[in-house]
Amino acid sequence: MQTFTTASALSEALAAVRRPGDTVGFVPTMGALHRGHAALVKACRLECDVTVASIFVNPTQFNESADLETYPRTPESDRALLEAHGCDFLYFPEVDDVYPDGPDTESLVMNLDYGTLTDRLEGAHRPGHFAGVVQVVHRLLQIVEPDVLFLGQKDYQQVAVIRRMVSLLDLGVRLHIVPTVREQDGLALSSRNRRLSPDERLVAGKINQHLGAVAAGLRSGWPARELEQLAIRGMAALPALKPEYVEVVDGHTLLPYQDGDPVEELTVLTAVRVGDVRLIDNRIAYRANPS
Ligand code: AMP
Repeated sequence: MQTFTTASALSEALAAVRRPGDTVGFVPTMGALHRGHAALVKACRLECDVTVASIFVNPTQFNESADLETYPRTPESDRALLEAHGCDFLYFPEVDDVYPDGPDTESLVMNLDYGTLTDRLEGAHRPGHFAGVVQVVHRLLQIVEPDVLFLGQKDYQQVAVIRRMVSLLDLGVRLHIVPTVREQDGLALSSRNRRLSPDERLVAGKINQHLGAVAAGLRSGWPARELEQLAIRGMAALPALKPEYVEVVDGHTLLPYQDGDPVEELTVLTAVRVGDVRLIDNRIAYRANPS
């Protein structure tokens, strides 16, 4: 694996290896890599001729400075994981290289019409978060110019927002969404999990159980709002768990699901504080056209 700290060196190296007809796949990450990220790299290797990953803790998508400061950084083991999974190129830049004009520069991509996708759920709880996400993903796509972009279902709303950006700007990159990789007790793998104490880690496994109960309830025809309330109350009753929201939504619009509405994808999303750590997760209860 070759590592580059500048966009110009990476672009040059990519241009040199890219043969006509080659497919370049891209896996953007913020590091502290785990089996979830590895699943994205594996999927990329299977589908593409060239695999590019990035590790960049993007400051513009953090709305809490403490979260940015405590975000885990494990560069050596990250490199080893990527190497072991056959990643070809790693882009590992400093902030200046990603944002030569400074991170605070407003860009067109931040002001596109994302409709209902950016103002609810994570958008409501983390003001500015998605502006930072689209800013960095757009910039990384300009640098890498991939054919396929690999993203995790774990960040469900992020996928919806990036899909909209790609479509509005007609960027011509295909999205490949990888299912959430979980621990044995169901906890979704996340870089932030390593900040949980042993007791918090134990109770965090319950989040997925509650989402599973909501998904099962929806399939049995229970009212969505009742299921949301049950999950919120159930989680809030556990030590150290503070649910911020549990919402059953139409997977395309991310608007609240109204019982009986015909939807192609029905999803329950949650954000939960476990001690000082904020975790997100989701479960698709129903999909009309499973891929
Ligand atoms: P992050 O480093 O957290 O920004 O994540 C980088 C990419 O990995 C994103 O597309 C995430 O959705 C994806 N990802 C993170 N955790 C998981 C997981 N447990 N399973 C699958 N993909 C994941």
